[in-house]
Amino acid sequence: MEASAESVAAPRLDPDAPLTVLGGIGPSTQRRLAAAGLRTVQDLIGWVPRRYRALRELDAPDEAAVGELVRLRGEVIACRSAWLPGRRSMVTVTFACAGGPGFDVPFFQQPWLKKAYAPGQQRRVEGTLQQKGRRFVVHGARVLPAGAVPTGEVQLRYAEVDGVSAARLQQWIALCLDRVDWTRLVLPPLPAGLAAYDGSAERLLRAMHRPADVAEHEHARRHFAVREAAELFATVERARRARARRAARPFPVDAALAARILARIPFALTDDQRTAVDGLWQRLAGPSAMGVLLQGDVGTGKTAVAIAAALAVLARGATVAFLAPTELLAEQHAAVVAGWLRGSDVRVVLCTASSRPAELDAAGPLLVFGTHALFGADLLLPRLGLVVVDEQHRFGVQQRMALVQKGDDPHVLVMTATPIPRTLALVLFGDLDAIALRQRPPGRRAVRAFQLATERWPRAVQSIARAVRRGGRVFVVCPAVGEDGEKGGVVRVHEALAPRFRCGLVHGRQKAAERQAVLTAFRDGTLDVLVGTTVLEVGVDVPDATLVVVVAAHRFGIATLHQLRGRTGRGRRRGIALLCGPRTERIAAVCATTDGFELAERDLAIRGSGELLGTAQSGFADLRALDPVDDLDLLLEVRRAVQACGAPR
Ligand code: ADP
Ligand code: MG
Repeated sequence: MEASAESVAAPRLDPDAPLTVLGGIGPSTQRRLAAAGLRTVQDLIGWVPRRYRALRELDAPDEAAVGELVRLRGEVIACRSAWLPGRRSMVTVTFACAGGPGFDVPFFQQPWLKKAYAPGQQRRVEGTLQQKGRRFVVHGARVLPAGAVPTGEVQLRYAEVDGVSAARLQQWIALCLDRVDWTRLVLPPLPAGLAAYDGSAERLLRAMHRPADVAEHEHARRHFAVREAAELFATVERARRARARRAARPFPVDAALAARILARIPFALTDDQRTAVDGLWQRLAGPSAMGVLLQGDVGTGKTAVAIAAALAVLARGATVAFLAPTELLAEQHAAVVAGWLRGSDVRVVLCTASSRPAELDAAGPLLVFGTHALFGADLLLPRLGLVVVDEQHRFGVQQRMALVQKGDDPHVLVMTATPIPRTLALVLFGDLDAIALRQRPPGRRAVRAFQLATERWPRAVQSIARAVRRGGRVFVVCPAVGEDGEKGGVVRVHEALAPRFRCGLVHGRQKAAERQAVLTAFRDGTLDVLVGTTVLEVGVDVPDATLVVVVAAHRFGIATLHQLRGRTGRGRRRGIALLCGPRTERIAAVCATTDGFELAERDLAIRGSGELLGTAQSGFADLRALDPVDDLDLLLEVRRAVQACGAPR
């Protein structure tokens, strides 16, 4: 271990000491660190790297290592800057190595670096080794600060704190590692059953920050991953137990009521739907609040299942709130379900930002369709017995707890069509019982997608014409409203298609009534083509739709594209999706498979967990050691342990 003479002589640091004991941390930096939860020496050494990769340490570039991640030590011999076409700047630093040939390090768009490197400086450089002619070049280089203690054959990447670079954090962490009083640093114990992952704080933290190799780091990482997972599951477990304790009004369904409910649904349920409905009825009849996640790919028929559950509650005069992610979808659900319930005494009410009913508290069964946003506002529903949350995959446990606490302890049914990777589901929905729909209703097949380069738009128009000729309906989806003339905007696309087709336009800025009229015309067949924004994304249900064309498809995420293609192929005819735009990784993934679960995993892999999980409400934002993509086994193990040990805090 490299410990300088100074660090041996200096007094050991108390793990609880404020970070100002480290030289160079003044009040403003201290505030920034505190905002990220870093207040003490112990907090700082707990700032474990988010990512790591195996790397080779070399004395000098070596042909055999080309393409690999390497760490080289060299002396700066020159630094020059140049302009590339398109006013891109490039600074190239040339290093000499004691043990062999030197190497160049290019930096793009950071002209100020020219002043940062003076001949004679010794530096360690990490990056991917490439060969250009006879020179070696290190790409994606990270130059370690002078005096930084390098890790072993591992590259570590730290998250930065707003206003404080990862490199500075790493320097302070190194200082703390050398000086902290390890005898006073004790990690709280892991939950029972996970002792195998335990270890001394000193060994684990040194292995996190200064591992000799990947194996050593990975061993320690798993310890901290288990810690993070245990915390997540403690939250989940608390939510689950809180729900189990909550008494809710029971809504039993006897044979006669079951028959009446099923008669209201205009088709025979699939076996999967029937099983799901039975599962819901059974839970609704129980003494504690139901919490169910109903998962099923687009088009598997979740709505009917939810309505069957709702009718059990409505039959006893209670209220059901059905929350959709968009107004359009709320409107559609309300219209469709009102049809199913015609002649019954259930009042079906639409309650969105643009249409609020006058009074809700009259007696009698009430079925309210609204948007998620609405529920956030102060909507007070009388006799609320069941909340159905449709198409919601970003609601974390915490948010849901808040949502439920608003009402009079209603039962809760959450539905999601965007299958989520299992690791995510475990945490986001771990407090709920999962029910899955796998079958599709008879005659429905998965919808294949094809990519079409932007300049081949005329081909897309031909396809639209062909679909219309054969009596099908066509959705055309665009990214923006674009009334300001933005390219690809829905208004422009509508203008382009309107002369040729009976063509309607919907977007979020329309009045509900106007939108509803267009949608009805489309459903009736008065219109053949419907141009819209992603208000069409979820749930819009037109059985004759056979083609969906997505304009500028590269601007949509995988989940959205998968949802969009689910708008077609709902009738007896096969549906097709044309994705116009450059062939991105995401588009390729959607074209390659129709399996929503596989796509969800691909999505997570492509985007990295950051974007998907970065939302504060997901509960994943603070993860550093746990990898929500790869650590499924670990998660399952931790969940077992947390569930087995008594009630968490
Ligand atoms: P999602 O699971 O995507 O929400 P929906 O509930 O919108 O799916 O159902 C998709 C379509 O399938 C709707 O038109 C619905 O009426 C129809 N459907 C659902 N279940 C059945 C069934 N058992 N038999 C025939 N059609 C069904
Ligand atoms: Mg749906």
